[in-house]
Amino acid sequence: NLYSSRHYDTDVALYEGFTEKTGIAVNLIEGEADQLIERIQAEGRNSPADVLITVDAGRLWRAEEAGLLQPVSSEVLEERIPAEVRHPEGKWFGLSQRLRGIVYAKDRVDPSEITTYEDLADPKWQGRICIRSSTNVYNQSLVASMIEANGIEATEEWARGLVENLARPPQGGDTDQIKAVAAGECDVAVVNHYYFVRLLESEDEGERAVAEKVDIVFPNQDGRGAHANISGAGVVVTAPNKENAIAFLEYLTTPEAQAIFAQGNYEFPVVDGVKLVPVLEQWADVKTDTINAAKLGQNNPEAVKLMDRAGWR
Ligand code: FE
Repeated sequence: NLYSSRHYDTDVALYEGFTEKTGIAVNLIEGEADQLIERIQAEGRNSPADVLITVDAGRLWRAEEAGLLQPVSSEVLEERIPAEVRHPEGKWFGLSQRLRGIVYAKDRVDPSEITTYEDLADPKWQGRICIRSSTNVYNQSLVASMIEANGIEATEEWARGLVENLARPPQGGDTDQIKAVAAGECDVAVVNHYYFVRLLESEDEGERAVAEKVDIVFPNQDGRGAHANISGAGVVVTAPNKENAIAFLEYLTTPEAQAIFAQGNYEFPVVDGVKLVPVLEQWADVKTDTINAAKLGQNNPEAVKLMDRAGWR
């Protein structure tokens, strides 16, 4: 019984592949991440949930904090999934990666002007930056990673500088930030890479036109690397079918399943040597921050408080 906050058409092929291989049926319950977490809590020890799949380490951490996930030890998972994208005790495992990049207006910005997240606090960007709200877990995780790299004080200082530079109060999702750059409302914006790729690959001509006006940089290439986050899964503490749940996670780390799992949202597979979606090949060598994804969760409360103090709404 799979509780998933992912809803990509390609995921169905994954579940069918697993059933074909193992004879184990997959019952899918879809919902928004926080609702699924609440639902498992409400169901208590009678919860039918075996596996929880969600995006962002910050959300996996919330599930873990709520005591909903159990430690799993599996040689297959430990061998195939790099240590930095799984929980140290096996409470969750990253299955694909998303990078938080900086989109810029090609006609107004030279990519050499913006090589780090830290640059966003530079006064040269005054009135030129779009970013979504601090309530968004992607930004919380980015800030959590910066706390790990630079400390609380320097990160708060940075956040104040960023807020000073905003072109408008935070609003909308990542796609809206890209559209605002294309429309000239701002010159740079912070977004997860797949929102840009969706526009690039869109069947809608207008959306492709938006993508053509901008490009994306992955910052901090000369330092710790670009901030990466994960889609991942954990075995629920009350899982009635624990063995099947582990078998399912192991299946998701096979090369075939990894390719499909990542393809659904133009993400990067976590297992080495898995073929990328062609559009992602240009970024195959991007250096990513190897901070353990668990830190993103551990630093989350501090990140939220810091963003509030800095006036990031
Ligand atoms: Fe997203």
